[in-house]
Amino acid sequence: MSAAAIIDGKEKARQLSLTIKDSTAQLKKDGIVPGLAVIIIGEDPASQVYVRNKKRTAEECGFYSVQHKLEESISEKEILDLIALLNQDDSIHGILVQLPLPKNLNEELITQSIDPKKDVDGFHYMNIGKLAAGDSENTFVPCTPAGCMLMIADHLGHDLSGMQATVIGRSNIVGKPMASLLLQANATITICHSRTKDLPSLLKNSDIVVAAVGMPEMIKGEWIKPGAVIIDVGINRVTNEEHGKTKSKLVGDVDFNEAVHFASAITPVPGGVGPMTIALLMYNTLNAAKKTVLR
Ligand code: NDP
Repeated sequence: MSAAAIIDGKEKARQLSLTIKDSTAQLKKDGIVPGLAVIIIGEDPASQVYVRNKKRTAEECGFYSVQHKLEESISEKEILDLIALLNQDDSIHGILVQLPLPKNLNEELITQSIDPKKDVDGFHYMNIGKLAAGDSENTFVPCTPAGCMLMIADHLGHDLSGMQATVIGRSNIVGKPMASLLLQANATITICHSRTKDLPSLLKNSDIVVAAVGMPEMIKGEWIKPGAVIIDVGINRVTNEEHGKTKSKLVGDVDFNEAVHFASAITPVPGGVGPMTIALLMYNTLNAAKKTVLR
């Protein structure tokens, strides 16, 4: 069996960022500079890296970019006050709070306090509701699933009629919106989670698999239908011993080295979904800024 095409998320994200940069330059002629505010609370090392990458990409796109680094000891009220200020700030079109939050903070209260018109992560219930109702045009689609859809469309087109898609994971930020988008594209959907029985047999009939679990290499090559398109959202850091040294690396939820022999196309980890997530954040922020011209 021939090996799958490797979906180059890094390159696709780079191209999308260039388009966003051009549109930003156009928008600047109308006197609008897209503004993105990122709030990070605490010292989670992975979050620090994500936020740095978001800031760098925002600047590369020509955005006004601000970062609010807050101590883990900050009170909920202080965070809500900051978000209220950013909601009112006309130079800011997109606000995001980097997740996960420290355990003592109420994630729902904080994410739902962002003005839905500036909710570029697409986590506000108003935006989630619109997406679930099939209105992906007038909402902010969460960045990770939106990026996955673009990569699927590259290989299978925008109309997935007659195709069977399986989403593994049912989180609000990946699994559920992913399923909504696939449904809107006319795929037939199965959503799997920790209580699902016999995942391998469900995958055997799946033309599209989106894995968003957070378990290193749990999806084995022989579970995959030959020719399926595999989108691996999972980011898992694993360590192994090599020549007496402990090394760490990132792997996805799919056993890439096996799956590559069954799939027709597959995203690598790293370099697949991750860069696209950041590019889609820029896309959402640009659109938030454009809407202020139309308002
Ligand atoms: P969550 O922990 O919120 O959700 C994980 C989901 O996996 C849950 O729905 C859970 O089921 C399900 N699950 C757990 N065990 C199994 C199992 N054995 N079989 C089938 N399903 C199972 O994670 P997220 O959705 O936030 O993230 C998932 C992964 O994607 C993580 O590795 C994360 O780091 C990565 N990620 C990557 C992004 C990127 O840009 N590349 C962006 C966001 C996330 P249940 O609901 O029953 O508990």
